[in-house]
Amino acid sequence: MSKTSPKVGFVSLGCPKALVDSERILTQLRVEGYEIVPSYGAADVVVVNTCGFIDAAVKESLDAIGEALAENGKVIVTGCLGKRADVIREAHPDVLAITGPQDYASVMTAVHKQVPHKHDPHLDLVPAQGIKLTPKHYAYLKISEGCNHRCTFCIIPSMRGDLVSRPVDEVLVEAEKLVKSGVRELLVISQDTSAYGVDVKYAAREWRGKSYRTRMTQLCEGLAELGAWVRLHYVYPYPHVDEVIPLMAEGRILAYLDIPFQHASPRILKLMKRPGAVDKVLARVAAWRKACPDITIRSTFIVGFPGETEAEFEELLAFLDEAQLDRVGAFAYSPVDGAKANELPAPVDEEIKQERLERFMAKQAAISAAKLKRKVGKTLKALVDHADGEGAIARTSADAPEIDGVLRIRDGQKLKPGQFVDAVVEAADEHDLTGRVAA
Ligand code: SF4
Repeated sequence: MSKTSPKVGFVSLGCPKALVDSERILTQLRVEGYEIVPSYGAADVVVVNTCGFIDAAVKESLDAIGEALAENGKVIVTGCLGKRADVIREAHPDVLAITGPQDYASVMTAVHKQVPHKHDPHLDLVPAQGIKLTPKHYAYLKISEGCNHRCTFCIIPSMRGDLVSRPVDEVLVEAEKLVKSGVRELLVISQDTSAYGVDVKYAAREWRGKSYRTRMTQLCEGLAELGAWVRLHYVYPYPHVDEVIPLMAEGRILAYLDIPFQHASPRILKLMKRPGAVDKVLARVAAWRKACPDITIRSTFIVGFPGETEAEFEELLAFLDEAQLDRVGAFAYSPVDGAKANELPAPVDEEIKQERLERFMAKQAAISAAKLKRKVGKTLKALVDHADGEGAIARTSADAPEIDGVLRIRDGQKLKPGQFVDAVVEAADEHDLTGRVAA
């Protein structure tokens, strides 16, 4: 990078989807010869990639913009909150430009306007896989944008529009580049992974001389060829999810399914506009476990949704008992500006919401602790994230980065991030495992 390269500061907020957007913008900036600098003071301009999903995220985004303005003065805003330019302008009238999510071109136009730069192909090299914000050994692979559902608690469709799938060959080529660059784990993300390809009528494309349809199962078959871990996130519970279970049972993709159920009471699910056949869900969970006994099922739930009665909340607890999910995240319902659910009658008191959340988490913690205890004595394959004088932090197939637990390897000082290792589990708590390198 030349000493005279214009310098850009970058603040990335929000979910993994926003992270992928940040990676794209950073890649483009580097491709064009901009230098990314870690401090406001050194930057010629600052880009803030925002999140607008819940009120807390809006506040965090507005605060980040305020901080960048105070420290640097020249700020370009992008990301989900960019769709609500009035909110940003009201709080921070001095921002230079506001663009929405995935609008990489407008971000680049705003940057060019502020700090023009002549590309120098000899100096401005960028690795083929782009610039990663995640560690070198895992990467998020975004397969589509937008969503055709209209869950009443969510404003993503109004911000990001209906589903637009990336062609399967394009995704597979990107995955191939990532693996070549050292990525050992691909985390497939989208708003609705199981709907992949619906918008393009599952169009067939060619990759490595073979035809693949733009469809979740065939995408997984392609990804399985790459020899990396493949982990599926945000899988909406459609019937055809069953099709990927054999790939998991054969060890071709990770036996891990992140499938947000959100609730278990049919009435609440209906109010949420989510599929509501709880018996069928339980039967399917049982069938998946039968076909693939090692499968890890992760899910997320909302407690205290408007109108949720004590009896309906208890239905949810009973579902947890029955389903014995491996990993669970939960949120107390929080109204999102513009979400339909805000119009529903009988909002739940904040205190009751928090109390239900605590009861929910306590129940799941007990389930999780019992499940993890059964792993003690087993030898598990794990991917190392970090190692130092204390040992190594690794993850097994059951642990997605950031959201699930870890396997601490107490004698893993010499292991390297990105290395696969077999470890014997010696102890477990509610979320994490501890072990040693297998002999
Ligand atoms: S499926 Fe997900 S992204 Fe789509 S509307 Fe529902 S919660 Fe929002």
